Amino acid sequence: MKRFLVLALLLFLGCETPKNTPASPESTFGIVIHGGAGTILKKNMTPEMEAAYRATLEEAIRTGHAILKVGGSSKEAVEKTIHVMENSPLFNAGKGAVLTADATIELDASFMDGATLDAGAIAGVQTIKNPISAAIAVMEDSPHVMLSGKGAESFAEGQGLALVAPEYFYTKRRQQALERVKARENQTALNSEEAAYLRAQRRGTVGCVALDQSGNLAAGTSTGGMTNKKWNRIGDAPIIGAGTYANNASCAISATGWGEYFIRAVVAHDIAALMEYKGLSIQEAAKIVIHDKVGKLGGDGGIVGIDNKGQIAMEMNTAGMYRAHMDGKGNLTVKIYAEE
Ligand code: ASP
Repeated sequence: MKRFLVLALLLFLGCETPKNTPASPESTFGIVIHGGAGTILKKNMTPEMEAAYRATLEEAIRTGHAILKVGGSSKEAVEKTIHVMENSPLFNAGKGAVLTADATIELDASFMDGATLDAGAIAGVQTIKNPISAAIAVMEDSPHVMLSGKGAESFAEGQGLALVAPEYFYTKRRQQALERVKARENQTALNSEEAAYLRAQRRGTVGCVALDQSGNLAAGTSTGGMTNKKWNRIGDAPIIGAGTYANNASCAISATGWGEYFIRAVVAHDIAALMEYKGLSIQEAAKIVIHDKVGKLGGDGGIVGIDNKGQIAMEMNTAGMYRAHMDGKGNLTVKIYAEE
């Protein structure tokens, strides 16, 4: 009888949905990335630029996919995929990050583990080569969730992470963008197309979400923020729940867009919450949050997401978002423009 009771208890516990949702037999693996959303128009893009973006997106996503394919963790896939985009001068993260009003670089990043709901983030750092790795280190090797500025840099140094001189991050393109934005800053008579173009010049975060073969989700986001930002402004990218969120019970989300709106709309967590509490699909939840919530507030941007079954969302209310997806079978999609 006693043995029966123990067995019944074990069965009962096994039926509960724990926070750390285990791998479901239906779960396959998959990975989705973004390289920023905005007024990305074909008429403003040279064929060479477009090819370079598509090639780097493909290189990045194949890096993470190869890790997942051999049974590697979603954490490792997210980290290594983001490294490729941080190391590329094309994207506003790591090398090639946008400049502040003082022509300095201030990088933000965050990471979340969907199995444990552990998270780490850094904000306003100037010398950490790969901010996503510092965010992961904060999660794994500190008692905190978010570190900023000089403290975050000395923590990263203590962790043995690569530090570089701030000049490493600079590119001519971002310097010119700062000059353009400054020159037009005081112009009040911009038409809406000009204003949108100017906003697009200012952004371009990178992010990655992945589901591994054990059914674990992870999300990471890394950015230089917005061109001409002032007063140590921090955007949504390092804020858990706004720019990044992962929970094995629902999905993993990474956002890109006008950070102030994404913070106020708590975008990444809102999508996860609609799925967890209301049973919505990832596509339904992402549409509601990006269009009905962010859009109605006046913000713009997009998200990439993957759920615990490998279903994905790549939703935006902008003219484009650099993005790519690879599923467990190795099918690859790389897209830039909204209508693609
Ligand atoms: N969300 C970023 C920020 O506001 C910018 C971007 O995604 O392009 O800092």
